[in-house]
Amino acid sequence: MHDRAMPGVQGLTPYAPGKPVEELERELGIRNIIKLASNENPLGASPLAHEAAIAAMAELSRYPDGNGHALRQALALKHDIEAKRIVLGNGSNDVLELVARAFLGPGRNAVFSDYAFAVYPIVTQAVGAELRVAEATSAESEMPLAHDLEAMLAHVDGDTGVVFIANPNNPTGTWLTAQAIEAFLQAVPDHVVVVLDEAYFEYMLPTLRCDSRALLERHSNLLVTRTFSKVYGLAALRVGYGLTSDSIADLLNRVRQPFNNNSAALAAAQASLADAEHINRSVAMNDAGKSQLEAGLLGLGLRVLPSQANFLAFDLGKPGQPVFDAMLHEGIILRPLASYRLVDYLRVTIGTHEENKRCIEALGRVLQAQAA
Ligand SMILES: *Cc1c(COP(=O)(O)O)cnc(C)c1O
Repeated sequence: MHDRAMPGVQGLTPYAPGKPVEELERELGIRNIIKLASNENPLGASPLAHEAAIAAMAELSRYPDGNGHALRQALALKHDIEAKRIVLGNGSNDVLELVARAFLGPGRNAVFSDYAFAVYPIVTQAVGAELRVAEATSAESEMPLAHDLEAMLAHVDGDTGVVFIANPNNPTGTWLTAQAIEAFLQAVPDHVVVVLDEAYFEYMLPTLRCDSRALLERHSNLLVTRTFSKVYGLAALRVGYGLTSDSIADLLNRVRQPFNNNSAALAAAQASLADAEHINRSVAMNDAGKSQLEAGLLGLGLRVLPSQANFLAFDLGKPGQPVFDAMLHEGIILRPLASYRLVDYLRVTIGTHEENKRCIEALGRVLQAQAA
């Protein structure tokens, strides 16, 4: 049936997720595995979220609230925005797909940066739209391998449906200044939907954050996406959302599945919003862990990309795959970046102090063994 699939789908490569712990246990028969591959919160979710998810299990025979009313009310309060301007997704991935289905298709194009989040090309190509990949900043630049918004703007034309911007970006961790984002929004034509993907927003230094909430008032073509998968520690439940204009929200809701968030997910996400302390603790732990891991990587003579997220991408100066494989035998799951054409790079999620320590020690052994 391959030839019967739509042309965009025929050319797709499935998203390669981080290797699950259970899979490595099965393959190598080892224990005490640390997964630092998917930018999950090493502290897990708030206990309030756990309790809420378990309580929701009492009503398994009922459909969830298809409008996610209670969660959207809570988010409306958090962001000081009307609830009708919030679109819930099964993870923010779902919101990215809704945008593609509403605004992209044959004859349209989507613009994004080289080394940007892998889901942008997938959702674009799946609906038959053209991919326009803008060159990233150079590896020698002060902000290396990052989005170059001027280069992205140069790819925009009358057929551009969507521009995807990740800030900070995954897998690089690099970020854009608030001024650069603002200037881009001023310059881009109004017919283009600009997606500002802020999956790692909470990890950014407050002084480096862009005020996306204020930008939403000035730009009705802006869609800001956020997620409960990263600092909120709810990746398993799949909840994300978009903040946008009435008009875009209305269009996304037309293509959204009626029950795209399950009851446990809705309840846990809402409950997690009440635990600001958990978020503060998670961010503080990430800040400390980032310094620890960065120092460790630099100590091993590796080049580390600047990051405002909960992971670091680093350059081994030689192919990353053999190092990734050897680290698996040490019981540590990192993320290879060859699928991003960053063949010499690996990405590591910032873990607990102990996890980071084990990771650096193991990496030191692996690099020494491979140099011998
Ligand atoms: C992890 C991530 C997301 C969030 O995905 P979910 O579907 O919400 O789990 C979105 N964008 C980027 C850039 C990410 O790294």
